[in-house]
Amino acid sequence: MIDTIAMSMTTLPTIDTSSDRLLEHVRDPELAPIVEAVLQGRRIDADQGMTLFTTADIWTVCSLANLVRRRLNGDVVWYNVNRHLNYSNICALSCKFCSFYRKREQDGAYEYSLDDIRAEATKAIEAGATEMHIVGGLHPWLPFEYYVDMLRAIRETAPRVHIKAFTAVEVVHLARIAKRGRDGAEGIRWVIRELMEAGLGSLPGGGAEVFDDRVHAETHRGKITGDRWLDVHRIAHEEGLNTNATMLYGHVETFADRIRHMQLLRQEQDRTLLEWARRHGAQVQTAVDHEGQEHEAVILTHPDTAESRLQPLPSTCDTGYYQTLIPLPFIPDDSELEHLPGPMGLENLRTMCVARIMLDNFPHVKAFWIMQTLEMAQFMLQNGADDIDGTVVWYDITKVDGAGTHQEVTQRDLQRAAREAGFHPVERDTLYRPVQRDGREWSVVDDNCD
Ligand code: SF4
Repeated sequence: MIDTIAMSMTTLPTIDTSSDRLLEHVRDPELAPIVEAVLQGRRIDADQGMTLFTTADIWTVCSLANLVRRRLNGDVVWYNVNRHLNYSNICALSCKFCSFYRKREQDGAYEYSLDDIRAEATKAIEAGATEMHIVGGLHPWLPFEYYVDMLRAIRETAPRVHIKAFTAVEVVHLARIAKRGRDGAEGIRWVIRELMEAGLGSLPGGGAEVFDDRVHAETHRGKITGDRWLDVHRIAHEEGLNTNATMLYGHVETFADRIRHMQLLRQEQDRTLLEWARRHGAQVQTAVDHEGQEHEAVILTHPDTAESRLQPLPSTCDTGYYQTLIPLPFIPDDSELEHLPGPMGLENLRTMCVARIMLDNFPHVKAFWIMQTLEMAQFMLQNGADDIDGTVVWYDITKVDGAGTHQEVTQRDLQRAAREAGFHPVERDTLYRPVQRDGREWSVVDDNCD
């Protein structure tokens, strides 16, 4: 047992790691070795991940996810004050699971002018937001300069607001319209550098869907493949940007596809964190990959001392890495896959749990309340999730059960949701640094990166 690269800036509680309590409640004998592995801080493999999806003993799965979540984030629930901006719903593609896109001549198609965007940035300041979360369709005619000007306009209007913008497929689209090549790494790197220069602070991680060729062919042919999505994020990390990763599940994919998706993300995060670990002289651990091969990995572990004040994970200054996995349940309404039922509550809960247990090198797992509902997100906080996203205001991508695009909760709502679930709510910025706030005024605690 070698490494401890730990995270979180809060004091963490003592974890009861004696196997007795968890093991004595295990009803499915197949879960016993998985419980042993997690209790000992070892990585689980793909077959064990599948067992977590298929066992009838879901409460042991929940308990394990809660254990991992508490190891990494103690009794903290992270939230932020943010504002979403979907600058255009006009898209060259027609992904089958998407109810957001419109063709230009269709009713409801829109695109924001730079004045509209400045107005949104002003509203973000007025709301005390620390972040603008920006994504849109692949607009066929807007030039590359539009996107650069968008970021510059926000930077001028709201200089302190973090700009988290563009999914990987948008980045590839921008490389194409900038005539820097559609798939070449250099074109992607050039776009990311230009956007960073204009104010880009991180990538939100959308559009990953499920990394599988069959699913890609059936539901989002024309969009970039999983390999290309991972390439974009790898380059972003190399350029120093932190990113998140999503997984859109509950449509035509299988449990095995979900596990494979998680494994690929885990593998990519290993690569990123190992580089950091080598540069900083940190020790690493040996883990077994999905093919049974041993290799070095950075598994985030808690040293089990109640008093320890842990160091933040690899600096947000010079190292880009995956901060958060965001499992997104497929919502069929108004999409071409409307005939599919979509996942229900227990499946959403279980998927959250499996993600938390599998992704031992992701500091955070988010219950995105917009798609999970705030009520369900509370359960998820007790079962793997440590982040509940933000105040949001407008969200145009998906709507749960007829909800409108105005989907706002207050900080008080988020704090209440966290407290009712038994946790301590902490406001964060986009990079998971705690925020101090007095009304609309805010500052980052321990801000040593700007
Ligand atoms: S998911 Fe994205 S790329 Fe696909 S149709 Fe919708 S907006 Fe366009």
